[in-house]
Amino acid sequence: MANKNSTFPSSGTQLQKRPPIVVVLGHVDHGKTTLISKIYEKDLTKKEFGGISQHIGAYQIVYQGKKITFIDTPGHVAFSKMRSRGANVADLAVLVVAADEGVKPQTLESLKYIQEAKIPFLVAANKIDLPNVNLEWLKSNLAENGILVEGWGGNVVLVPVSARTGKGVDELLEMIVLLWEMEEVKTNSGNLEAVVIESRLDSKRGPLATVLVRDGVLRLGDTIRAEDVGGKIRAMINDRGKNVDIVYPGEAVEILGFSKIPPVGAKIIFGSPKEEFPFSSPGRKFSKEEENEEKKVKILLKADAQGTLEAVLASLPEEIKVIFSGVGNINESDILLAKASGAQIVGFNVGASGAVKKLAETEEVRIKTYNIIYELLKDLEEMVLKILKSTVVNEIIFGRAKIIAEFIVNNQRIAGCKVEEGEIDRKRPLHLQRDGKIIGDCQIVSLRVGRTDAEKVKKGEEFGVILSNIDFKIGDMLLSFSAAPLNGEN
Ligand code: GDP
Repeated sequence: MANKNSTFPSSGTQLQKRPPIVVVLGHVDHGKTTLISKIYEKDLTKKEFGGISQHIGAYQIVYQGKKITFIDTPGHVAFSKMRSRGANVADLAVLVVAADEGVKPQTLESLKYIQEAKIPFLVAANKIDLPNVNLEWLKSNLAENGILVEGWGGNVVLVPVSARTGKGVDELLEMIVLLWEMEEVKTNSGNLEAVVIESRLDSKRGPLATVLVRDGVLRLGDTIRAEDVGGKIRAMINDRGKNVDIVYPGEAVEILGFSKIPPVGAKIIFGSPKEEFPFSSPGRKFSKEEENEEKKVKILLKADAQGTLEAVLASLPEEIKVIFSGVGNINESDILLAKASGAQIVGFNVGASGAVKKLAETEEVRIKTYNIIYELLKDLEEMVLKILKSTVVNEIIFGRAKIIAEFIVNNQRIAGCKVEEGEIDRKRPLHLQRDGKIIGDCQIVSLRVGRTDAEKVKKGEEFGVILSNIDFKIGDMLLSFSAAPLNGEN
C-alpha cells in the first residue's frame, strides 16, 4: 500500500513537518479567549467555507501558507485534563500575560504544566492597547517569577499583542511558525498517536469524541479504542463541519461510532476491546429503553483497586447508571466527564486533591467518598428511591419488589417476588411497572412468606402474592406506594 502520508494535504513533500498543535494558557481574564478568536479571524481559508466553523475543540488555521492547529479550549484546566492521563497533546504553548497585571497564580500554574509537558512556549504580552503599559516592568516581573525573556537573561520570546485591536497578532503567528520550524519533531512515522480532547453524549447521534491526531492517520471504518471504550469510525466531521474520510497528523475531527463516551485525555489505538458496540450506526434514534436511562441516577465511580471496583459495580442497584469507572484518585478529567454527562462522582477509598475539589465546586459536580461499601450502597439506594418518588407526583414509594416467578394454586395466579428496595406492606396499593413504566395499579389480596401470612416483607425477602385484577409478567416490578403516609409513619 502506498504511504498514507503521501497524500498529506498541500504538503507537496513527504518530508514536510505536520502542523504544530498549539495550546493557549494563562491567568483568567488575561485575554486567552479574545486572542484565540482574533487568531481565527486571521484564517484566510475561512472565506472558502463561508466563514462557518464548527466547535469541536480544536481548529486549524492557514497562516501565510502554513497550517497551525489551535486547541480552542483555553486555560490550564483543558490542558491538565489531558495531561492527567499522561497524554501529550500540544507541541507549543502560548502563555498569555496581561501586560497591566503581570504574573498571577494561574500564570505560574500554566508555567508548571508547560514545564511538565516539556514543550517550548512564548509569552504573549497582551492588552498593550491599555494606557500606562510598561513592557520593561512586565519583563522584570516575568524574570522575578522565573520566566526569562530575551534581553532579561533568557531566550523566551515575548510578543507584545492586543487581542482586542489585533495589534501584534501577525507577529505572534510568525513566531509560532518560526518556533515550530526550529523544533526537531519526529512525526509522520505512520504510527498512530491520537488523543481524545473532548467527549460528550449527543441525544441523537450517541457518544461523540473529538480526537486530535498527532501522528499516523485515522480512516473511516477503522476499529479503534480509547482505553476501555471501543468503536468503529462511522463518520468524522472536521472543524469546518465537513465529513471527511481520512484525518492527517495535526488535524482534529469529531468521531461518531464510539460505544460509550470515551474519557478526555485517552489515547486512541487500533483494535477493539472486549465489548459490543451498541451505538453502531450514526443518526440512529434512541430506543424507549435508552430514554428510560435518562431517569437513572448517573455516577462516575472511582475506587482504590480493581477488585474493590468490581465488587462495588456488582452490587449497585439497577437504576444506577455508571458512565465511567476506574481505579485511582478523583482527578480533573473525572470532574469534566461527570459534568459533561450530568453525573455525580462516587469514590471508594479514594480522595481528591484541593485543586480537583475546587474544580468540582466551580463545575457544580458533586463528589462523595466512602470507606465502607455498605454506606456507599445505602446512599445510592436512597438516591434511587428519591428518584422513584420524584417521578410519581405527590406520592411516597416505600419499596420495590421484582416478580421472579409465577405459580397457579387453586386457579389463582400467584406472583413469586423478591424485595429489592425498602419494604412491601400488605395494606398498601401497588404500581405495576414494566420496562420502567407504570402500567397499572392493584391491591394485595394475599401476602405470604413460605406458607405463612405476612403483613410486611423487607429488602432481600422472597414472598408470594395474589394481586387484584392485574395481568403481570415475570420481570415486572411492584412498587408499594401511598399518596400520603400511613398513621404513625413518614
Ligand atoms: P480569558 O479569561 O483569559 O479567556 O480572557 P478573555 O479573553 O475573556 O478576556 C478578559 C477581558 O479582557 C475581556 O473583557 C476582554 O474584552 C478583555 N481583553 C482581552 N484582550 C484584551 C486586550 O488586548 N486589550 C484590552 N483592553 N482588553 C482585552
